[in-house]
Amino acid sequence: MNVKQMYLGIVRAPWPAGVRNFAWDMAAGVMPCGRSVKGSGGPHCLVCTQQAHAPLDSVAHFAQCSCLAELRRWFAMIWRRMSWIGEPNFAHFMICGHAPRCGDFVAATAIRGALIATAQWIRNSIILNGEVKPPQAARQYAAYRLRHHVLLDYQCASAADRSRGPTSRWRPATVAAFVTRWAKICTLANGRLAFHATIATAG
Ligand SMILES: [Zn+2]
Repeated sequence: MNVKQMYLGIVRAPWPAGVRNFAWDMAAGVMPCGRSVKGSGGPHCLVCTQQAHAPLDSVAHFAQCSCLAELRRWFAMIWRRMSWIGEPNFAHFMICGHAPRCGDFVAATAIRGALIATAQWIRNSIILNGEVKPPQAARQYAAYRLRHHVLLDYQCASAADRSRGPTSRWRPATVAAFVTRWAKICTLANGRLAFHATIATAG
């Protein structure tokens, strides 16, 4: 994957504009960090500041920061749950996706969007409110974002089944396609979705 493909992947992904912008800033390395964060007073990570050798606040550190530890664990769980091969690098996946492509690209892009949205939410709470979310919150928020995506997929698939209207490449064209895409993390019975524990509310 070259740089152009990396940016095109972000521009074309079906994520909310704010999430796309954050992904772009991460990829370009221009996310506000260190002294450029208003009121931070120093170049070090605001979360890891208590450590003896506090790391510098940077895009590279953010992906490794303890504030995203639960998100990294959740990602590894989801990856295994989807039965995709290997153990992808979290930072690389957030910025570039997975290359070569692995599993269902559309599903992987949805999961990537949930990861980036959660990373953005966590970082915003740190630099805007000075609040470090409790570890479990990351997992719960990521699960909520993915559930939201899957629910919308289901609505699109149901509507498409009824109307045979135009569909987006990012959304399943039929309920059968929906079930195939998300069978590992949710099941459909009598028109109701039941989510697997990895993305269920209790997360
Ligand atoms: Zn840190």
